Amino acid sequence: MKTLTIVVPCYNEEEALPFFYKEIKKYIDDLPVKVELLFINDGSKDGTLEILRKFSKEKNVNYLSFSRNFGKEAAMYAGLKEATGDYVVFMDADLQDPPKLLKEMVETLEEGTYDSVATRRVTRKGEPPIRSFFSKLFYKLIAKFSNTDIVDGARDYRMMNRSMVDAVLSLTEYNRFSKGIFTWIGFETKWITYENLPRVAGKTKWSFYKLFKYAIEAFTSFSATPLVLSSLFGIIFCFIAFLMILVIIIRTLIFGDPTSGWPSLVCIIFLVSGVQLFCLGIMGQYLSKTYLETKKRPIYIVKERNKK
Ligand code: UDP
Ligand code: MG
Repeated sequence: MKTLTIVVPCYNEEEALPFFYKEIKKYIDDLPVKVELLFINDGSKDGTLEILRKFSKEKNVNYLSFSRNFGKEAAMYAGLKEATGDYVVFMDADLQDPPKLLKEMVETLEEGTYDSVATRRVTRKGEPPIRSFFSKLFYKLIAKFSNTDIVDGARDYRMMNRSMVDAVLSLTEYNRFSKGIFTWIGFETKWITYENLPRVAGKTKWSFYKLFKYAIEAFTSFSATPLVLSSLFGIIFCFIAFLMILVIIIRTLIFGDPTSGWPSLVCIIFLVSGVQLFCLGIMGQYLSKTYLETKKRPIYIVKERNKK
């Protein structure tokens, strides 16, 4: 019989974990595979680790605990790296990823035509409207800017077979954007859709700032278009400046040189230096990513794990 590893990244999930554990146990016996649960404690500051220690007394339940919060991407990478199953699936601890889909996912992979089964939300019910608005904007922009398809509403809830897991692990970059990585490596993926579910307990771990940083990550990891854009801005502004110089020379020759006009000058200085700072910012983003990559730091550090 094949085995399935369920990877669960947890950051301050003491409220949601008991619900998750109870719910998932109802489904795993029904699956035509042997199941291993692998919890990744991503530097939680609440009682998450205590709960995981308790869970791990049972057979087939393991956990890893990071030395600090490394972020969900790092937790997912660690999960893939440590997973021993023939199939691996990511699930959130808050039951927003319905476990009843697991059976369909396993059966699809067992047939052998697909390498992975991914899920996407068709609605964003229960999410703050402003967050939905910016999420939609993000997916529209990244679709235009990047060659790698990033599906709108795609969740991290995804099951993969061994060859796909190994492919994902072969991309060892420090700045990880998994949604892009999954498309970049190729393989056959089947998409399942479902309606958004509210969190069972606890609060979302993604602040607006965190999501903004995540979006920047996506752009700089999967598109070099912003760099081209900054050159384009530069060229357009040089052209405008050149035209303006011509206009001013001709005007002076015809009408003489009245001393008025400094307010417009100040406006132009502001505008041009704004564009310069913008372009410099874009360059800085890429440079900082390159800097971090060259350091070759580990993606995560494990402080504690259960012994079996
Ligand atoms: N998570 C994590 N590290 C983080 C942030 C989140 O491991 O730094 C986990 C979190 O515990 C949860 C999953 O990632 O299991 C999804 O987080 P959340 O439900 O807060 O995100 P949302 O569903 O609101 O997008
Ligand atoms: Mg959630």
